[in-house]
Formats: sequence, structure tokens, C-alpha cells
Amino acid sequence: MKYFFSVMIASSLALSASAAVDKNFDYHVDRFADIEVLRYEVPEFDRLSPQQRIMIYYLSQAAQAGRDIIWDQNGKYNLQIRKLLENIYSTFSGDKNSKDYKAFEKYIKQVWFGNGIHHHYSTDKFIPEFSTEFFLQQVNLLPDSELPLNSGQTREELIEVLTPVIFDPTVLPKRVFQDGSADVIANSASNLYGEGVTQKEVEEYYNALKNPNDSTPISYGLNSRVIKENGKIKEQVYHLNGLYGPAIAKIVYWLDMAKSVAENEAQKEYITKLIDFYITGDLRLFDEYSILWAEETDGDVDFVNGFIESYGDPLGMTGSWESYVNFKNQASTKRTETIASNAQWFEDNSPVDSRFKKDKVKGVSAKVINAAMLAGDAFPSTAIGINLPNANWIRAAHGSKSVTLENITEAYDMASHGNGFNEEFVIDEPTSKLMEDYLYITDMLHTDLHECLGHASGQLLPGVDPDALKENGSALEEARADLFALYYLPDQKLIELGILDNPEAYKAEYYKYMLNGLMTQLNRIEPGKDIEEAHMRNRQLIAAWILDKGKKEKVVELIKRNGKTYVKINDYKRMRALIGELLAEIQRIKSEGDYNAGAALINKYAVKVDPELHKEVLARFATLDIPPYRGFINPVLSPVYGDNGEIIDISIVYGETYPEQMLRLSHDFKTLGY
Ligand code: ZN
Repeated sequence: MKYFFSVMIASSLALSASAAVDKNFDYHVDRFADIEVLRYEVPEFDRLSPQQRIMIYYLSQAAQAGRDIIWDQNGKYNLQIRKLLENIYSTFSGDKNSKDYKAFEKYIKQVWFGNGIHHHYSTDKFIPEFSTEFFLQQVNLLPDSELPLNSGQTREELIEVLTPVIFDPTVLPKRVFQDGSADVIANSASNLYGEGVTQKEVEEYYNALKNPNDSTPISYGLNSRVIKENGKIKEQVYHLNGLYGPAIAKIVYWLDMAKSVAENEAQKEYITKLIDFYITGDLRLFDEYSILWAEETDGDVDFVNGFIESYGDPLGMTGSWESYVNFKNQASTKRTETIASNAQWFEDNSPVDSRFKKDKVKGVSAKVINAAMLAGDAFPSTAIGINLPNANWIRAAHGSKSVTLENITEAYDMASHGNGFNEEFVIDEPTSKLMEDYLYITDMLHTDLHECLGHASGQLLPGVDPDALKENGSALEEARADLFALYYLPDQKLIELGILDNPEAYKAEYYKYMLNGLMTQLNRIEPGKDIEEAHMRNRQLIAAWILDKGKKEKVVELIKRNGKTYVKINDYKRMRALIGELLAEIQRIKSEGDYNAGAALINKYAVKVDPELHKEVLARFATLDIPPYRGFINPVLSPVYGDNGEIIDISIVYGETYPEQMLRLSHDFKTLGY
């Protein structure tokens, strides 16, 4: 599971746990469409030993070696289109101020950001604003040798195939189609399923494989593409000699190098297991790797590399390829270790029915990390918190690792200063001040609590299918983790533990949460559309439910002032009680597998948007020019060589532009493409 940054509110860094912020660091890299590209700093890189830095370098190569996989998973024409666009971009010699070229530049930047032709978040297809004529003219300026042709394909055939894929809004319109009223597989443009495969066939196929009495089930479908061959459903497994073999070979090579400089035996062991998994594609080995990985907490350097999160699959089976390379942020890790070592207290004191609580919360390891390389589905758009592994039985029996990406959160925060958000949306000066003083730390704490306690808390009643909540499972799970975090933010326990120093601090996060859930996250939704993404549904669900349930007592109100809507919280204490009530109910729904109750909550609160309020929010954002989405380019890690040509250290620099980085990655890490 992963956790995204939700707001663009500026807050002061006065209480930041990290003292290593360079005030002169330039976070801003590029701005286009609804996107801002930032860069992040890697503090504490200098405190690592050369060997640790070399390990990070090898893992970073393994991370970037998988880049083409996510492009191909996201859509079967993506690698071809990327190559074509990049060749046009790199050789263009016409008027760079023309309307067509400007639109082309915007489009290629969008495609880079989406790892394909669909938006990374809404999963809607990008619609180019340059003319088809301009496109054809540019394609025809390229010699045959510069065209990404499939074997036997002619220039004319390439144009005939790709033109509608790029320009026709009705062709492959959505990457992840989740509207349960139609076939979610047949209507999704991603490449996780082959031609002609239907939802019913996939569900029947996996149901036949699943054994309800298996207490340690593999993650069915996690590493495969499902196709229909001679009328029969079968899996094309991702492994060294299977689908994506050439990319996996490179990943394995670099993982093996990383193993040679690993910090300890436990790391070597889990890297070996991961390599074995990549070689064979055997999901049992992936589970064994996941257990070894979750239990290794001694090293500084750590990474995720594999088919992990299944948000890109409408059925939530196949993992999108991603990688995070990171190392411990020493100062802030103390904070999460304190939380994690008190996990049982939080579990015992939650407002949840005792039947749904864990008697023994197992091994919730929590740390704060600095990202050193983001790749695959985690790049350029990235999470700020991760909790893995995802398999329920592993989490229950062996615990999970929960991390907060501090330098990423910090970069978001630093890049937001002075953007005018608070002045426009926050109701009054005292609330604004509270947010400036305490939002950074309470936001970080919210992420810590969400990841290391929220997701790890609670248990299913015996015999309940973990997938019982079906298409609402992700949103309800995120809501459960958010509610757990929100419930505890005001708790005296956090003051006792020395994590917060002001009993009023939580109000900053409460205000932000309501403001975001009721209003400002609508900036990410196009007029007339519903809310679809799981984290956004979760946030509106919670905020709208509290507004509704507290209506009589006026716990929270939406008020109008000079024609503008503001969130007004009248009773923070009562709001906390409501959060506790909803947490208890959603835990019950999950523990009992009560699909109908879950669906009713989602349908009533999480999906629909008030069109008038939506319009107002968009108009107010338009005056601020705050991008709804942000992501990152990576630093450049380069080997430093000794006299005998051996790598003795790694240097880090930050200066690349967004196009420079994208073109370099396409060139240096071309594994599957053209
Ligand atoms: Zn989460």
C-alpha cells in the first residue's frame, strides 16, 4: 500500500525533524498541463560509507533498468509512441515557438510523466493539442531507421496504427476502467490483459485456482499478463525467460552487484531470494523474499524492486513494476520507532470492537527514509509513505515494513511556500497560523500513524475473504488507515511519548483534512466527473461523513463569505469522537466482509461531487496557478573510479532538466523497446 501527498498547503519547517534542509536548494524543475516537476535533495548522503553509497548506486541501476516494464504494462503502444515522440523531439528543426510545437512539447512531457499515453492519476488518455498534419509531417521527416517499427511493419502501417491511438479520444480512452456497470477488463486500456479477455473469464480463472482453505495463498496474478489463446485463458508470466525477460535480466545483473556490497547477511539473503524469484517467476519465492525483506531492519540501505502495487489493475491482481531505493533518515526514525514500539497500546485503546482487534500486533517496523532513486510506477509521481508487503497473511504472521519518505515530503512542503493557498482557502488567521506552525509535523505524523499502525491494525473474523469488499476494498482500506491516524493525533499519548509538544497541534491536520476532503481535492477532478481514485474516495468519504453526521450539532460547517465557501470546524473534540465512530464501523465492515455496507458508504459519500462547489473550487484554484499534481526527477548518481578502474565511491548531482533526464533514461535503460 502506498500513501500520497494530499495537499498543497504551505507550512513552516520550524518543527521539521530534519535539520539538513538547504535553503538554497532549487526544488522547481518544470511546469506543464496540470503537472509540476520538482527535484528532491538527498540529505545525509554524505554520512553514508562509500560502500553504502555504492550499494545505493547498484540498486539505482536495478531500479532504472525496469523502466520499460511499466511503460509496457501501462499500454501496449507506449514504448513505440515514446520512441517516436523522442525522435521527433530530438531532431526537430522547425519553429519552436509555433503553436503546434508548443503543444507537442506539452504532450511529450505529459507522456513522460504518465509512463505512457494516459494520465498517471485519472488514467484518462491525453488528448494532443497539435494537429494530425503536424504529427504526420514530423514522422515523415524521420528516416526509416529512426522509426520504431515492429518487425515487418512499414512506415504507412505504423502511422495507420498509431494515429488513432494518439489522436482519437474514443480509442483506448481509459487505462484503468473501474465503473462496475461494465466489463472492467475489456474497457481498460492497460496491457495487463490481452485482446478479447473479459472480466468474467479472468474472475473464473482465478477463482478456480484459489483454495479457500489455503492459509498462505500466493498473490495470484501478481506477475503475469492474462491472455486468451485458442479460446483458453492463460498467464504469460513475467520472468527471466518469459515476458519482460530482457529487462529482468538487467535488473538481476544489478541486484547481484548490489548483493556483493550489501551491509549484512540478511540483506544478501533477501536479495538472493528476489533474484531467484525474477529468474523463475515463482510467486512462492516472492512470498519468501517478502518475509525475509520485512524482517530485515538492521541495515541503513533498503529498497523495493518488483511487481508490487495493484492499483493499475481494475481487479487488483497484477502488480505494477516499481522501485524505491532509500536509506534511513536517522533523526526522524527515532520518531517512528517510538510509535511502532507502542503499537500494542494503540491497538488496545482504539475505539474498535474488541473482536476485530489484534491480540498481538506483530512486528510493525517503522522508519523514516530518504529516497535516493524512484523508478517505474513510483516515478515521476511518487508516494510519500509505503507499507509492504501487501499479502495479508504475511502481514499477520511476519509483520510489515512501514516507511515515510521524509525528503520527498520536505520537497513538497518547501516547494509550496508562498503559493497563496492558505490565504485563499483557510477560514481565518488563527487557523492559518496553526497550520503554518504544525501542519508539517502533523502531516508527517499522520503518514507515520497511517502506515505503521493503521494498515497493520485490526483483524478479519475467521473465514472472511480478504477480497470480500471487492471494488471498494482499496478505498475502505485507505479510510481505515486514515481514520486510525486521525483518531490518535489528538491523543495525550503522543505528548507523553514526546512526539508532539502542543495538545492543540492536531487541529492543523483536522482542518486540512476536512478542507481537502470536502473542497480542495476537487481541483484534481475534471468538471462533470466523479471521484474514482481510491485515496481520494477515502478522503471525501471521511470528510463528507463527518459533515453529515455532525450536522445537527454543527460540528463542522460549510459557510459562505463574500460568495466563497469555507470549512468551519466548531467542535474539534466532537469531530474526534465522530472519527472514532466511523473507524469502528469501517473496521467492522472489513472484519466481517460486509460488502453491502461498504458499498453503501462509498456510494453515499465518496463518489459524487457537488457541481456548484466543484466549479467554485476550480475557479479559485485557477487564480493561484497551483498544479494539481506534482512529481520528481531523480538526482544523478555517478561512479567515482580508483586507479585500477574500480568503483571507489559515488557522486551525486542534481542539475538535470526534466527532458534531459527522460531522454537519458530512455537511452541508457532501453531494455524492451525500439
Ligand atoms: Zn495507505
